[in-house]
Amino acid sequence: MKILVFGPQGSGKGTQAELISRKYKLPYIATGDIFRFHIKEGTQLGKKVKSYVDKGELTPGSLTNEIVKDRIQQPDCSVGFVLDGYPRNISQQKFLESIAKIDLVFVINISDTEAVSRLKDRLACKCGLSYHPVNNPPYKKGICNKCGDKLFVRDDDKPAAIKKRLAIYHKETELVLEIYQKSNTLHQINGAQGIEEVFAEIDNIIILYK
Ligand code: AMP
Repeated sequence: MKILVFGPQGSGKGTQAELISRKYKLPYIATGDIFRFHIKEGTQLGKKVKSYVDKGELTPGSLTNEIVKDRIQQPDCSVGFVLDGYPRNISQQKFLESIAKIDLVFVINISDTEAVSRLKDRLACKCGLSYHPVNNPPYKKGICNKCGDKLFVRDDDKPAAIKKRLAIYHKETELVLEIYQKSNTLHQINGAQGIEEVFAEIDNIIILYK
């Protein structure tokens, strides 16, 4: 099964993509996590993309396409994958269409006001999980449940970058959603609910599809 998870920043798309991946034993791929890993490790790629990621802008050119192509052609993706953060514009969507047939697309909807309020308090871990002090607190304050690492505030969760990321989502990524809507692959999910309720909505659709 090849699944895409969309949603504005703060919608919980990463959390839901992780839950799908765990339940259905599909590799979880998040382009944002791949970039953050490279930035943290100080690789060539990391140096190239750091300024874009920190400001909340899309990394330019076909870089992300090549990263995704390489990743989904790895043997573990022969069963499918859950992709989070890609495609984010029409050109990436066209590229993805040329290398993979997508089965299910979810968009987790929340308002911009809710997105801003969730993101400004968000804490992230380098393993990709994120937490919120009220909606999704870690068991131990400031520490990741999964890997025990220290949580941190992402540079792109600061107000100016949040604004830019939401604007890109509305201007570019929503056009991608229209394409999946037309091909009847898109499922709208109400993101203004608890994590378990959102996952139940998604899971009911996956069960019907399987
Ligand atoms: P995310 O964690 O999905 O919010 O992504 C964090 C940042 O990584 C984005 O603001 C972009 O700078 C970069 N990024 C992630 N995915 C893409 C993509 N598909 N195309 C271009 N840039 C991306």
